[in-house]
Amino acid sequence: MPIKRRDKGVNEPEQAGPTKTVVILGVGFSGLTALKKIEAKISKNDDVGITLIDQNNYFTFAPLLHQVAVGALHPWDIVAPFRTLGLKEKTTFLQARVARIDLEKREISTTSGIRHYDFLLISLGSKTDISGMVEADNAQNVFTLKSIEDATAIKNRLLFLFEKAASEDNPQVRRELLSFTIAGGGYAGAELAAALSDMVFECAVKSYRSIDPGDIRINIIEVKDRLIDELPEKYSGYIAKHLKNHHVRIMCGARVTSIGKSWVEINGNERLPTNLLVWVTGVVANPVISGIGVEHDELGRIFVDDYLSLPDHPEVYIIGDCAHYHDEKTGQVARPRAHHAVRQAKTAAENIMALIEGRPRKKYKYSDSMVIVSLGRTNALFRFGKYWLRGLPALLIWLAAYSLLSIGVKNRFLIDVDWILSRVFGPDMAVTVSEVNSGKEKTKEE
Ligand SMILES: Cc1cc2nc3c(=O)[nH]c(=O)nc-3n(C[C@H](O)[C@H](O)[C@H](O)COP(=O)(O)OP(=O)(O)OC[C@H]3O[C@@H](n4cnc5c(N)ncnc54)[C@H](O)[C@@H]3O)c2cc1C
Repeated sequence: MPIKRRDKGVNEPEQAGPTKTVVILGVGFSGLTALKKIEAKISKNDDVGITLIDQNNYFTFAPLLHQVAVGALHPWDIVAPFRTLGLKEKTTFLQARVARIDLEKREISTTSGIRHYDFLLISLGSKTDISGMVEADNAQNVFTLKSIEDATAIKNRLLFLFEKAASEDNPQVRRELLSFTIAGGGYAGAELAAALSDMVFECAVKSYRSIDPGDIRINIIEVKDRLIDELPEKYSGYIAKHLKNHHVRIMCGARVTSIGKSWVEINGNERLPTNLLVWVTGVVANPVISGIGVEHDELGRIFVDDYLSLPDHPEVYIIGDCAHYHDEKTGQVARPRAHHAVRQAKTAAENIMALIEGRPRKKYKYSDSMVIVSLGRTNALFRFGKYWLRGLPALLIWLAAYSLLSIGVKNRFLIDVDWILSRVFGPDMAVTVSEVNSGKEKTKEE
């Protein structure tokens, strides 16, 4: 059957573009929420177009990256291609990397050329700053946990080390191969440590029978004097106790001073053998925004006003991990968390629509009523308002919340099914890329 073309006839006049263009840079938690909100508000007759720009053509559900890193979920469970998310007719997606933003000319330089805007929403997220720490010869052992590629690489490295250790005769070398370290005892570090411990001690050791669990080390290094120090002491103590009971060595008040090929140096005087170092600290705003000539804080975030816009540019909104929002009432600065990103996106989208429709804008209402921390396969910590839950009830809330909050019915389904399958049959233990199958590891003859 011939394929029908969707183009208009050659004689049909080119349609003029919309007179007002909203450009959204970065389609993560905040960008995607803002898009949905604006799409819902513009009617067919509104002369408004939306351009989305992201370096990836998919959304990543970052709070579940650690589940991919330990093989409990597959990479495709937690990513959703934008083009399958039902983008409306007035929305255009451009896969490109944003390089520069010029507020005066109202233009954005990207790897696919220049784009102009009438209203701009900057939601480019954050990155892990590990500059100065990683040299070429130790890079193979050092990982960040920001993207689906990072999570997959961690899983591959972890299981590759198990494969090497399983056939290693020298006990000292075997112990070194099985030494894993997490730098950063915030939310991401604590969640990863708990998941890693369960994966290693409850699952991997059953499949790698030649490995003595006593040879495995998991360290977590935190520069502050306790884990997740923004939590009340009682609950950060609860997390520390859970991790200790699950064979995680906690080193608080410790700073990584140097990284070697198979070690990490602490406070300039102690070397821990480490063949897998996951760096989850040092989160800074996306460096792309550093070139914008406005005031930034020490983490590179841009100071925004009560409407989440730039004080001198009401047409430019900064949200999520890129924004420094200071709440007058509580004296707090919104932390780089997904729920803040989502709430800010709703206000910013509403304000852009208000400007388009000539209505007064709304001030952002800050709220930090919820905390949720997963602690492996059996435990979690949950706060709503002043109420705290821990143990199985908190874990069930975490499971339900994170499968429901993920984007799209297909992803929710995949997450739920894979969680059940990994509980029943164990995590995914395939090493899909390693030094062996990539040809980097040589035989003696080579
Ligand atoms: C491992 C991990 C676990 C986390 N767990 C939790 C949790 O349990 N609860 C919680 O509330 N928060 C959690 N967070 C934090 C949360 O994910 C972030 O606060 C949230 O994603 C910030 O949303 P955002 O919209 O600002 O940025 P993001 O969601 O990161 O989106 C940024 C987007 O910008 C795109 N982008 C970046 N640079 C460019 C460029 N130059 N050009 C084009 N596109 C670009 C990216 O591809 C991405 O799509 C976690 C984060 C991580 C990394």
